Amino acid sequence: MSLTVGILSIQGDVQENHLSAKAAIDELGIDVQVVDVRTPEEISKLDGLIIPGGESTTIGQLSLVNGSLKVLKEKIQNGMPVLGICAGMIMLSNTANDRVIGKTEQPLLNILDIKLERNSFGRQKESFESDVSLDSINIPKFNGVFIRAPSVSDVGSDVEILSKFNDRIVAVKKGNVIGTAFHPELTEDTSLHKYFINLVNTSKN
Ligand code: GLN
Repeated sequence: MSLTVGILSIQGDVQENHLSAKAAIDELGIDVQVVDVRTPEEISKLDGLIIPGGESTTIGQLSLVNGSLKVLKEKIQNGMPVLGICAGMIMLSNTANDRVIGKTEQPLLNILDIKLERNSFGRQKESFESDVSLDSINIPKFNGVFIRAPSVSDVGSDVEILSKFNDRIVAVKKGNVIGTAFHPELTEDTSLHKYFINLVNTSKN
């Protein structure tokens, strides 16, 4: 039976992730469908999920109100692989502090034992691109696109650090849960999406 990977389509880089996931699946030549999801019912049918970058306060509030946050948390706790990108990584965390205002009261999934600093590299106009490496998952060079990106200021002992930029943690992994501060869907490089699709495929087989 074919696998289904969802893109949480409440707000943010939905279409970009849809296209990157499809490109990755084509390159891998495996039978996986990509669907946009926003309701608890749609989420409950997934084998893997990408939470795109965007605005974590909006994604959090809307998914709380429509009941998706609860289902998301249960699915991920039961082993569903998830890739959280930028705002998506913020959603996975247990504590979010904003660089300017400090601790925020936004709804979070509280899945990864990580503390984040939101907008860690500055405002929109301070967005930048720089090469990063994720050696432990065999991606030695990747174009990191940082847009009002968070950094991880603290990790629990069971969280693996996948990448650092200027001494700041910008990608993490724990089991089937991956978070990146940068946006792989805004590059032509499908390595990270391929890594994630493979994770979904192996976790089901
Ligand atoms: N700064 C945004 C937030 O805090 C994240 C930015 C992004 O996803 N590009 O939600």
